[in-house]
Amino acid sequence: MYTAIGYAAQSATTPLAPMTFQRRSPRADDVAIEILYCGVCHSDIHQARNEWGIAVYPLMPGHEIVGKVTAVGHAVSRYQVGDLVGVGCMVDSCRHCEACAADLEQYCLEGPTMTYATPDRVDGSNTMGGYSNSIVVNQHFVVRIPTGMDLASAAPILCAGITTYSPLKHHGVKAGHKVGILGMGGLGHMGIKLAKAMGAEVTLFTRSASKAEEARRQGADHVVVSTDAEQMAAVAGHFDFLLDTIPVQHDLNPYLETLKFDGVHILVGLIEPVEPPLHAANLVLKRRVLAGSLIGGIAQTQEVLDFCAEHGISCDIEMLDIQHINEAYSRMIAGDVKYRFVIDMATLKA
Ligand SMILES: [Zn+2]
Ligand SMILES: [Zn+2]
Repeated sequence: MYTAIGYAAQSATTPLAPMTFQRRSPRADDVAIEILYCGVCHSDIHQARNEWGIAVYPLMPGHEIVGKVTAVGHAVSRYQVGDLVGVGCMVDSCRHCEACAADLEQYCLEGPTMTYATPDRVDGSNTMGGYSNSIVVNQHFVVRIPTGMDLASAAPILCAGITTYSPLKHHGVKAGHKVGILGMGGLGHMGIKLAKAMGAEVTLFTRSASKAEEARRQGADHVVVSTDAEQMAAVAGHFDFLLDTIPVQHDLNPYLETLKFDGVHILVGLIEPVEPPLHAANLVLKRRVLAGSLIGGIAQTQEVLDFCAEHGISCDIEMLDIQHINEAYSRMIAGDVKYRFVIDMATLKA
């Protein structure tokens, strides 16, 4: 064991504050990492404030981790001291179920071990996330940062990037497809870039016409203002896929009507229950599919990093001193960040 430092919430109602705690010494298959950058995800806020009812305190968020390997266990073959690596939303899984065998650890039938606020599978301790100077993770759940990639803007690819890449890949998005992206936050702006790089014709759906110019700067070919009935009617039956990143409840019916027959509307947000109710006719009469998707497996997380490196894609970020994490949460709730805060962990030493 060794002493680490990080920012944690002690309860659902207390702000994040510095805390020292114990990290385990590397086990045989473990990689110890000095954390250089950590992205700030909306899930971090939900968990710190126990908005999903599953928080365990102290709760140290952070699952968009980029750092440098400082030590490896004796059985580690894939990484060496000095390697630049990443850790995303999971740090372990059962490794033998049908999902794990298919490189889909996020759907582990026994439940994956998440990067924070989940019991460690070996010693039962509460996992502590990336708002910290270090982390120790099984090598299977560590990915390599491609050479030359900017480390800070790579961090959000480990959650926001894989969450949008995985469903686009799974559903076979390719050149010639018409893809609509719903919402342009951390996820949506990555969705635009990734779908565009896959060759799709990309349209952003947004409630505010003021975002049109910015959407085009991000690579969108078209913009549809979703509150404008005329614009929505003009794209009826138009899209092959919709990637829905809107994090709050919204009416899916007007969007479903913009899909072709056999079109797929993919949800990545936990907007439950779906309200107002879904009209079954919007699915049945056109054989449309309403689908969901959760982050992505470890192999695919490596794949999205490599894809982003190849296509020159990164997340638009605002660097953050960790001392300002609570203000950053307030700004995120107000939608005031373009598009992801990334903590510069060097500020933890201050
Ligand atoms: Zn996340
Ligand atoms: Zn499993």
